[in-house]
Amino acid sequence: MFGKKERTPLPPKKKEDIPYIKEGISFKEWKAKNGSGHKWRNIRWAVLIGINVLFVLSFMFDLSLLEGSLSGSRLFGFYLMDPFNSLQLLVISIYTGHIKYLTMNFVIGVFTIFIFYFLMGGRTFCSWICPYHFLAEWGEKLHNYLVKKKKIKEHTFNRYLKYVFWAGFLILAFVTQQLVFEDLNPVGILSRAMIYGPGLILIWILVLITFEIVYSKRFWCRYVCPIGATWTMVGSVSPFAVKFELDKCAHCRDCQAVCEVPHVLWFVERGKATKQRHDVGADCTKCGLCIDACPGNALSYTIKGWDKIL
Ligand code: SF4
Ligand code: SF4
Repeated sequence: MFGKKERTPLPPKKKEDIPYIKEGISFKEWKAKNGSGHKWRNIRWAVLIGINVLFVLSFMFDLSLLEGSLSGSRLFGFYLMDPFNSLQLLVISIYTGHIKYLTMNFVIGVFTIFIFYFLMGGRTFCSWICPYHFLAEWGEKLHNYLVKKKKIKEHTFNRYLKYVFWAGFLILAFVTQQLVFEDLNPVGILSRAMIYGPGLILIWILVLITFEIVYSKRFWCRYVCPIGATWTMVGSVSPFAVKFELDKCAHCRDCQAVCEVPHVLWFVERGKATKQRHDVGADCTKCGLCIDACPGNALSYTIKGWDKIL
């Protein structure tokens, strides 16, 4: 779950086994030949925009399709709860002794969403549904441009920081008996702003995205968001993942360059892989950017264990 590396690497691949050298062409030619498009990114953006638009349309036209917001919703009348919101409610009701009053709809909503994202890979929510992720992807492009132009420097933090925030927000909910995180949660704020109209709270989103652009790329998603941290925990036991095949890899690391959480692709570095095939760790959002970027098709979506059965 926390991306701990296995210790004994395989011997580094011989030069003649690097795919483009094997084919007798240069890396540039190999890349041009195999291409790297934006297939998964485009599909993902279409899904993300489609779902968020569905929330808006359901509210505007009073349709019973996808009602509510990403904090809590109903899909065709079926309840879906935000996982971290639910955890906060749970700790509050433990404190107040009201746990027995949690409704069946709450239990069904939590259970449904956990099962769904367990099957879909956990942090799939982040890149395929979350509107802040979409905004932050554009912020990241601007950040990378400014870094390339040497206008700003990149600042990184310890990636385990998000678990400190995860525990901290739960403790705050317990102590204050308030959903404190909801006041800061850009997912809920953006979702509600799109559905019910903008408010002054959007200044917080502006502050956050500006900080990410000028100081630390993807700061919220990488180091803070307890929703992402919850889905990482779920993703660690999920059967859905991105898989890596060493024999197809040229160690160019183009995949790491586009990845929000490059540490999960640690095995692409020459001489680091410990197996012929690795499944990418639970911090992976299944965004598919690495799949699009890899000229050797060394990365692809998989259901763990499935290819052994076939
Ligand atoms: S897996 Fe990564 S490092 Fe290996 S060839 Fe593909 S993009 Fe390059
Ligand atoms: S490993 Fe690939 S799919 Fe996972 S977050 Fe990184 S770029 Fe996206």
